[in-house]
Amino acid sequence: MKLINTAIGYPYIGENREWKRTVESFWKGAISEEEFNLEMKAIRLDLLKRQESLGLQLLTVGDFSFYDRMLDHATMFGMVPARYNWSGNVVELTTYYAMARGNDHAVACEMTKWFNTNYHYIVPEYEGNTLQLTNNYLLDYFLEAKEELGQITKPTIIGPFTFLQLSKGYDRISKASFILQLIPLYLQVIEQLVEAGAEWIQMEEPALVLSLKADDIKLVQEIYKQLAEKVPTAQIMLQTYFEGLSAFEELSQLPVAGIGLDFVHGMKENMSSLRNYGFPANKVMGIGILNGRDIWRSNLAEKVTSTEAILSLSDVKEAWIQPSCSLQHVPVTKKSEAALDETLLNALSFADEKITELVHITSYVLDKSWTGKGNISQSMLAIESLAQHEDRKNARVKDLMSHVIPEHLRRPLSFTERQQLQKDALQLPDYPTTTIGSFPQSDEVKRTRTAWRKKKITDIEYAEFVKSETARWIQIQEEIGLDVFVHGEFERTDMVEYFGEKLKGFAFTKNAWVVSYGSRCVKPPIIYGDVEWTAPMTVKEIVDAQQLTTKYVKGMLTGPVTILNWSFVRDDIPREQVANQIAIALREEIRELEAAGIRIIQVDEPALREGLPLRKEKWNDYLSWGVNAFKLATASVKNETQIHTHMCYCEFNDFIEPIRALDADVISIETSRSHGELIQSLKQNRYELGIGLGVYDIHSPRVPKVEEIHKILTESLEIVTKEQFWINPDCGLKTRHEEETISSLKNMVAATRKLRQQE
Ligand code: GLN
Ligand code: ZN
Repeated sequence: MKLINTAIGYPYIGENREWKRTVESFWKGAISEEEFNLEMKAIRLDLLKRQESLGLQLLTVGDFSFYDRMLDHATMFGMVPARYNWSGNVVELTTYYAMARGNDHAVACEMTKWFNTNYHYIVPEYEGNTLQLTNNYLLDYFLEAKEELGQITKPTIIGPFTFLQLSKGYDRISKASFILQLIPLYLQVIEQLVEAGAEWIQMEEPALVLSLKADDIKLVQEIYKQLAEKVPTAQIMLQTYFEGLSAFEELSQLPVAGIGLDFVHGMKENMSSLRNYGFPANKVMGIGILNGRDIWRSNLAEKVTSTEAILSLSDVKEAWIQPSCSLQHVPVTKKSEAALDETLLNALSFADEKITELVHITSYVLDKSWTGKGNISQSMLAIESLAQHEDRKNARVKDLMSHVIPEHLRRPLSFTERQQLQKDALQLPDYPTTTIGSFPQSDEVKRTRTAWRKKKITDIEYAEFVKSETARWIQIQEEIGLDVFVHGEFERTDMVEYFGEKLKGFAFTKNAWVVSYGSRCVKPPIIYGDVEWTAPMTVKEIVDAQQLTTKYVKGMLTGPVTILNWSFVRDDIPREQVANQIAIALREEIRELEAAGIRIIQVDEPALREGLPLRKEKWNDYLSWGVNAFKLATASVKNETQIHTHMCYCEFNDFIEPIRALDADVISIETSRSHGELIQSLKQNRYELGIGLGVYDIHSPRVPKVEEIHKILTESLEIVTKEQFWINPDCGLKTRHEEETISSLKNMVAATRKLRQQE
């Protein structure tokens, strides 16, 4: 049997984010288009050379992008919306980036999450125009690698079914014409690649792991039948990832040369499919054995055993050992992380290290007498040492966890009873106005924080600066006339990092960046140990602010599920347990805030919705522990203490039930961009708890008019009651400018006053 290793995709940002720098210098006009193209080519080739030198046998091209691969496909097929005034021939870089980022005349294309990852792609828009092949960049990349490196690479394409599912702008009727136009273009791309000497073409079809209807299955069968008939010589590796392949019995029979399966996130399902239906012996099996989404070194002995078990369930003549999905979701290399705790460092594996692991697994499965056996025992040792790390044996955390009882997860009184008590205690006006937490982080705020991080100013100087900025904004809030204040979050760059740095069990890297969207990269913290609260994290800032005003200042925390979902998380215990550890830590913080006299505490959970599993049948399990973690953090407060939460980036239509289950006294929620939808679901599902509907979109510098907001308020009162209605913007104001923020909030308050006077 033939066994080789390959990768579905590799991070394109480069070891030191060279890619990001090049893209951004081009945007700024610091380099010409010609220089840009040269630098991009150098980066592309370098990525391939790196993978080659690590021992990867079959290299992939087309995993590279100038911004986003869905956008690459859309422009390749001439799907340029009319608002960009495209000439209709090649898609120039200016048009390409206008679609990604908008320009003076046209708003950008929509951006949304790539399945259940934290990567966001550009949503292709079909406007019914004739599609055409404007270029075949995959062919260019294929030829480039052939010429410069002498390599026959595997071009990767986002498959037609997934591309279709993720595009928008068609309805039931125009869908047919969309597909009819799309397929010939895919055929051309494939034909040209085959003609140029491509042996394998990878078609990424992650949409095949979602729940599929009978119609979908038929469509997939039709698409691949056409491809097979028209380009019979193309060898297609149908690559799935993020879950098990749906409708395995039918789809494993598609006329393709290979099928790639995820044996990490889809392990259970794919294994049982293999047992039930077998795997066609004439196809190549892609075995996604290493987790392409986490940063942990694997137990190679276990991986070898699993690979053998998988192989034993089929009679394939060829298999590929690969990560479970593209490595773009993990940082490039741990080489520059020497400052980390040694045991932790030793147990990490980023993209480069994962490729090395693949090489070892492949060699071992092929040849048991292989001399590199030591790697296997080393991997086990590294994992074992981390398991024995004292930070994973925190007796106090274990004790707190073992004493969680059902009472910790529910407030003693019902919402209605609490509502009355809080009304009497807090004496807020009708329709209380508030904001979500952060105020604009001016250049001065950012500069001062950098100076402090670089130790150019002392801790005391920095704290004084934050205090004065907070004081200035307390004064501004007085002038605006808001009812419930915030301190402004000037001390925080990021809502997860800030808490991670103060809690035990977190580690921070120097260079472990991953792309979030476009050129924006994030550096998620690593939760490697037991999470423990050791000292107040927010009390000083909130209390400083509270002392300056007679209005209530909200305590402001990030919730357990959001901290979890925006970090790389240890894999030795269930995520639920990590969430509960964070919840207990937050519970201690909340207790301190209460003890310091804070009466309203907000615990943000913007990432609760986005952490939902891809398959609906897994939602309940996730939501039940996620909601419990939130309650564990918040339910122990006094009846009179008001718990708020906030959510954004959401489709709320099927989410009212989980929101209610949080039992937060007040939720502030993004509404302006998904207005209709949320209103509809609120109409259908009665929601009786406090709710602040975001009355204006904070993603734009535009100042909403009083009349406009007033209209939204009046309309909202058709679906929410006076007793439950709070008034606030959509989200935090961190990225806005001071002037527009003040004007917008003044208009919001004026609209609210008008509403109050009407009664
Ligand atoms: N309290 C946070 C802020 O205002 C909430 C951010 C968010 O929802 N993502 O910035
Ligand atoms: Zn928000």
